[in-house]
Amino acid sequence: MHTVTLIKGDGIGPSIMDEAVKVMDAAGAPIHWQEAYAGLAAVERFGTPLPEQTLAAIDQTKLAFKGPLTTSIGGKGFRSINVVLRQTYELYANVRPAKSWAGVNSRYADVDLVIVRENTEGLYAGLEHYLTPKKDIAESLAVVTRAGSERIIEYAFQYAREHQRRKVTVCHKANILKYTQGLFLDVAREIAPRYPEIQVEEKIIDATCMHLVMHPQQFDVIVCTNMFGDILSDLTAGLVGGLGLMPGANIGKEAALFEAVHGSAPDLAGKNLANPTAVIMAGVMLLRHLGEIEAAQRIQSAVEKVVREGKQVTPDLNPDSTAGTVEMGNAIVAAMA
Ligand code: NAD
Repeated sequence: MHTVTLIKGDGIGPSIMDEAVKVMDAAGAPIHWQEAYAGLAAVERFGTPLPEQTLAAIDQTKLAFKGPLTTSIGGKGFRSINVVLRQTYELYANVRPAKSWAGVNSRYADVDLVIVRENTEGLYAGLEHYLTPKKDIAESLAVVTRAGSERIIEYAFQYAREHQRRKVTVCHKANILKYTQGLFLDVAREIAPRYPEIQVEEKIIDATCMHLVMHPQQFDVIVCTNMFGDILSDLTAGLVGGLGLMPGANIGKEAALFEAVHGSAPDLAGKNLANPTAVIMAGVMLLRHLGEIEAAQRIQSAVEKVVREGKQVTPDLNPDSTAGTVEMGNAIVAAMA
């Protein structure tokens, strides 16, 4: 039995996480769920967005399954708890697969790529301040370290090797940001020759965006610094049918946290409209991480069947469907029977 810290999150979080837990339990995954709170839900209960109890729980389990957390926009309110969790547990590799789905009406039918995003430093290091008392000049510092670059680039090549991927694209902006992005690219050039069977490609971020939109099939594994990876994840989600389908894993040396790429979608909260697929597939990634391959495969096949049939799916996948979050979860459980 594995113990996993379960954080249901804000907005659509509780509804989609309930479906994910239902599906994983129905698949016979040997998981004991230990519930904890973060984000707005934690502010309401404990007066703080990241209570000590939650950190103590993850300290113990080293494994979390998390719904999206709402973060206020702009200078007011608390810091992103997602960023704090990634930095606290050094979850340096954010792995986000984007694969076309049979039955989903998207722009491409044959996309199969993985974003490997550096998750702890870069422009999201959290080093921001105003330079003047009037607050009319603000500064953000991007931090790129050799150690941080080595571990994420090594992770990307290792991932490519283990998953029989043919190519790693190092996505950067070293033509303009010569020190931070230059260091990242230098490290990639040092590491790549250790993986002679894997093709290496260097691409500037702006060109990467255009090539992704025009011919995404050319990409396989893409490795990049934090903010570029954040943006590319949503872009690639759009190529395969939207955020409701895109899972992610945050991997560290000692701990790991699994979640969807999407946020708390306040526009859908409380309406039984949110697609639970992304968090269910994040659950599949969690099960694979734990070596529970059979349960993972059972869930994946059931999700693929329900999505392919396109009847018991949420309206983002089929505007004519009357099914919601709960009905889609039930259909996935039924498809496993
Ligand atoms: P969002 O990802 O919540 O939503 C963007 C769009 O995608 C919306 O139109 C939404 O309806 C749609 N969408 C998202 N999830 C969906 C699903 N499961 N099914 C169907 N449609 C879905 O992004 P946002 O609106 O910019 O952010 C809302 C909040 O979430 C913000 O506070 C943001 O900071 C936070 N956020 C959290 C995480 C996280 O916890 N990892 C990630 C991204 C954003």
